[in-house]
Amino acid sequence: MPSQVFLIPAAAAEDPDILSQKARDAYLRIGLNDELAKEDFVALKIHFGEKHNTGYIRPAWLLGLIREVRKKTPLAFLTDSNTLYVGHRSNSVEHIRLAWSHGFTPDVVDIPVIIADGLIGRDAQEGKGEHGRVAAPKIASAFLHSDALICLSHATGHVQTGIGAALKNMGMGCASRAGKLDQHSVAHPRVTPKACRNCGLCFDYCPAKAIVQAEGHIVIDDAACIGCGECLVVCKYGAIKIRWDEDSRRIQEKVAEYAFHVHRHFRGKTGFLNFLVKITKNCDCMAKDEPRIVEDIGILASRDPVAIDKATADLVLARSGGQDVWRKGYDIDWSAQLRHGERIGLGSTDYELIELPG
Ligand code: SF4
Ligand code: SF4
Repeated sequence: MPSQVFLIPAAAAEDPDILSQKARDAYLRIGLNDELAKEDFVALKIHFGEKHNTGYIRPAWLLGLIREVRKKTPLAFLTDSNTLYVGHRSNSVEHIRLAWSHGFTPDVVDIPVIIADGLIGRDAQEGKGEHGRVAAPKIASAFLHSDALICLSHATGHVQTGIGAALKNMGMGCASRAGKLDQHSVAHPRVTPKACRNCGLCFDYCPAKAIVQAEGHIVIDDAACIGCGECLVVCKYGAIKIRWDEDSRRIQEKVAEYAFHVHRHFRGKTGFLNFLVKITKNCDCMAKDEPRIVEDIGILASRDPVAIDKATADLVLARSGGQDVWRKGYDIDWSAQLRHGERIGLGSTDYELIELPG
């Protein structure tokens, strides 16, 4: 039986009330709300957007969905975990302030924001990996203390996984900082000395102080590098690269295994919404406004995280006239996360797309 994926056509420019209604309708179709029990803790996993980013899912788009969840339980909350890199989301105080500045305040969304891995990203529990890539997944505690998960993902390109959507949001996004480090640890960027202009920009962004000066160019200290990928994104001259296919495949497989571990905890009480609007080359960690790589498509909803990401990829390729706009951004075989997710039993790439009236 193929997994069901519901699509409501939508665009970011629409009235926020209409988008809220569409997100609610898509959410109600997947049936999770009927399964929520009184006093279930429900984690609404989201990315609040980095400072100056403009692509993140807006709070106003979620009001209808949140109202439905609140009718079932008063214990719902919006959540994300702290970032690996230094920025405005690497501790809970700044993270919550950033969420507020993007409109996720109690008077607007009517539920609290809780950062899932505590003040500095160390509130986590370690499990046992089963599928080869991850030995001991480290998951932010708030997820493991919750009864249901609603994964709200803005679909974008991604520097390390090609596509960032439900699998990335659940696998990387529910991991503690140590878990994120574990997933990134297979990537080893390298510098092409001839391409480096020695501008120094990457120094400011490296959270591990792993970039050191050499004669006329920089070098990366492999022992100090944590593989976060920040330097790849900020270098305007393409002087820093990873071994895309090999390193990315291993990261994607780790992401899928972390996602499996989170998913299994909820014993089926999970639902996924992917927002295919303002799809950009980079994820919402980018502290800037980025152009779209494809026209807006709509909102997807499913109970299957692999199916919803496969449908996301397919819809974007179709909207771009068959051109692989994901690979145009970063030359990565983004399908590795889907293949591995399917292989380990997280979900299915076989799906039925059901279009709902927009
Ligand atoms: S940002 Fe790029 S060009 Fe500038 S110093 Fe770093 S590697 Fe070299
Ligand atoms: S060298 Fe690059 S990938 Fe390594 S820690 Fe620094 S910014 Fe991250």
